[in-house]
Amino acid sequence: MKQSYKATDPAANYVDCTCGKSDCWTVGLLPLRDHTAALYRAILTLGFEERFAEYDRGDDPWPGVIYGLELSASLEALTADPTYVSEDLSWTMCSAAWETDEESRELASKYAAALISFNFAWMAYEAAIELSVKDEKYGGTLPVRGRQCFKSEAIEATKVASLPVIYRVAKHYCRDLLAVSDELDASITKYELSMPAAAAELARLFRNHIVHGRDPLPVYSEEPCRRLYAVARMLLLLIQHLVLRRLIDPNRHIELSLHNDGVGSEPADVFLRNLHYRDERWRSLTPSVQSRRFP
Ligand SMILES: [Zn+2]
Repeated sequence: MKQSYKATDPAANYVDCTCGKSDCWTVGLLPLRDHTAALYRAILTLGFEERFAEYDRGDDPWPGVIYGLELSASLEALTADPTYVSEDLSWTMCSAAWETDEESRELASKYAAALISFNFAWMAYEAAIELSVKDEKYGGTLPVRGRQCFKSEAIEATKVASLPVIYRVAKHYCRDLLAVSDELDASITKYELSMPAAAAELARLFRNHIVHGRDPLPVYSEEPCRRLYAVARMLLLLIQHLVLRRLIDPNRHIELSLHNDGVGSEPADVFLRNLHYRDERWRSLTPSVQSRRFP
């Protein structure tokens, strides 16, 4: 039987706003996969134009970051079958049991795809912290150093378009993870965090939740998949600031495409803060965007 879904579907439809307002943050927001690709290409372009002080021609710019982004965006299809481990053969006698197994396969496939995408986004985020804040005063693990950096640079980092609302969306999706929510509240008080340091802390706590095996395979709902994508989106915006803060002359224009002539140029800081939104000036880089369903 032909599969009626793609494992990556929740990445394209996890944002579900029906307010209808023309200034809603979801209007023009790229699907997550295109956002990831746009950030990857922006880093390559900035590297090509030698806009990072330490960039040595011939080497990849921001290596761990672009490798993680490339893999996070690369996933096309995946199937997972959690019934493989079961000894229950009731599906051979009963169509209802077979359908239940089909539903569990669909959710497992979607969850595995979301987790893979999230893990590579996390890899990119940690690499971005390591490269961005090296030689600076911050201490502790990479995610803690990231949080400290975002606390010191709150005003600048909040200029990344829609970061506050994307943080609130990620927090909303994490609301049922009581340990994460409680720890976030405690950290906000203890370290006097506001946006965007609170976003960095939420990402750190959520990643610990995942990596310590506290997120079971979903049984009834795609919500856990959407949660992974919501936090992954937030990670991309945090990476955008970590990259921007290392730019030489951030106000100087950069070409928006290495390979497409005529796309135009934009100040590098404007580009890095807005590349997750559609814009005539760089829309031609992502021709798949217009054909995708995205509320
Ligand atoms: Zn809306």
